[in-house]
Amino acid sequence: MKIICTTLNAKYIHTNLAIRYLKAYSAPEYTIEIPEYTIKDPALRIVTDLIQKGPQVLGFSCYIWNIEETIRVIQMIKKINPEIIIVLGGPEVSYDGEELMKRITEINVIVTGEGEASFKQLLVHIENSLDFTSVPGIVYRNQAGEIVVNHLIQKIDLRDLPSPFRFEEDIPHLSKRIAYIETSRGCPFNCQFCLSSIEVGVRYFDREKIKEDIRYLMKHGAKTIKFLDRTFNISRSYAMDIFQFLIDEHAPGTVFQFEITADIMRPEVIQFLNETAPPGLFRFEIGVQSTNDFTNELVKRKQNFEKLKRTVTMVKDGGKIDQHLDLIAGLPEEDYQSFRKTFNDVFALRPEELQLGFLKMLHGTGLRRQASQYNYIYMDFPPYEILGNNVLTFEEIISIKQVEDVLEKYWNDHRMDTTIEYLVSRVFPSPFDFFQQFGSFWDEQGWARIGHQLEDLYLRLHQFLSQQNLTDFSIIEGLMKYDYLRNQKYKPRKLWWEERLPKQERSEIYQEILVSPELVGKDFAAFKLSEKDLYKLTVMEQLHFNLDEYLQSNSIVEGNFKLLAYYQPETTTAHLFTLQ
Ligand code: SF4
Repeated sequence: MKIICTTLNAKYIHTNLAIRYLKAYSAPEYTIEIPEYTIKDPALRIVTDLIQKGPQVLGFSCYIWNIEETIRVIQMIKKINPEIIIVLGGPEVSYDGEELMKRITEINVIVTGEGEASFKQLLVHIENSLDFTSVPGIVYRNQAGEIVVNHLIQKIDLRDLPSPFRFEEDIPHLSKRIAYIETSRGCPFNCQFCLSSIEVGVRYFDREKIKEDIRYLMKHGAKTIKFLDRTFNISRSYAMDIFQFLIDEHAPGTVFQFEITADIMRPEVIQFLNETAPPGLFRFEIGVQSTNDFTNELVKRKQNFEKLKRTVTMVKDGGKIDQHLDLIAGLPEEDYQSFRKTFNDVFALRPEELQLGFLKMLHGTGLRRQASQYNYIYMDFPPYEILGNNVLTFEEIISIKQVEDVLEKYWNDHRMDTTIEYLVSRVFPSPFDFFQQFGSFWDEQGWARIGHQLEDLYLRLHQFLSQQNLTDFSIIEGLMKYDYLRNQKYKPRKLWWEERLPKQERSEIYQEILVSPELVGKDFAAFKLSEKDLYKLTVMEQLHFNLDEYLQSNSIVEGNFKLLAYYQPETTTAHLFTLQ
């Protein structure tokens, strides 16, 4: 029996763990092929490839990001060969399977929830031409064409699951793609907007087998390993054991990413990581979602923001682990002003990355069932995003969306941190107000639809700020020059600002520096630059304030200063100096 399990990943660098578990669990009785595609691949190409492989059973792993494309593919496949048994599984089809089967008649079976055991039993029944009455955890069409739901009775003991990583065909791709790994399934929390709240309890995989898998992945070149555990740090001893193992045995250059719940993270654990983890080895993703206590209460999300703040701050102060914080706009009773506060509360922690998401009314979640209570209107199709509710209008959602693009480009990409810090703390009433006003301007100019070089980003911010009647515009311009110059590896050929130091004045200063390089400072003098190098490898620009003073004490001392950037060829590093 030829069996294929496949999926359409969101990006090429992603891999699908679910189909690998199905393959491993179904062996040795059944051999499963696991080709993967992306949602960008033309549907006809996917169909051609799958049809040419000649499957009798064809399974698809379905998520919010691929269900529409998956349906297009299976509808074509069924037209070409109606005999192929189409099986769907995954979170996007697990909760409203009956409805979906009524709508999409090409589906033969849906495996609901945890699929390994159900799928294998299904294969046994298909191979022996048995009816599916006794296969647990599936929705299927019987001989009479009726849709039948078989509930899942028993969960798998995860300690018995075979490794999903030991496939020869995966080895060449390990270094180029993200490897996903689970050490547990389920979440003890009950957030009403989240699919993970539906399953009760947390179950763990065998710890030693997981470590073996990680050793195997690293040995074969995996560079980014992402843990899919919904809350990696529920058990402190478990998390500590894995952290210690990764610190002791990691291959150089490997990055491990975790989703953690910050408010339950004990300070001792962070202290341990700050003291022992190599910089860059770990990356934390932390869902904050909202800092509005009433909102969190309504969605049954237990969160202590003070403790969360303590964790994020301690991790940040440690300087070893980058943090990615997530927010969700549109939760119950969180209006525009409340979301502004949530954003500002979280931005105050200065996470390396902050991401805005918009509430999705996912099938099976408590909030989708309660939608009418808050007058939610939302898309009927994936991603089921909300379009409004009793306290947030569609127009307000659109305004918040305008923040997303500029936040990504101007904060998360860290191209001009000094400038942004000045703007959000001294110029605009709050960080949210800066990103909102700039985002709206950005959108009005039509910039959301085009690509941007680094210079464009500076010019666009400059254009926005020049229309704000700012008294300290020349200071901001100076900070932008500083950010631009310090983030270059080589002397930039083109400078985006208009105010240039007159040639004559520059030459005079260069001559003085050649005679007494100490004028720029001891560090500069140590480079012992020749006249040729001074002209070839440095940039000198005008500043209207003392940059050194600002960087050290955060205070602005106005005056006539120069910024000198030296691009050291051997190290491709920019060294910046202020001189009067
Ligand atoms: S949002 Fe996070 S903590 Fe809440 S149920 Fe989902 S996975 Fe668990």
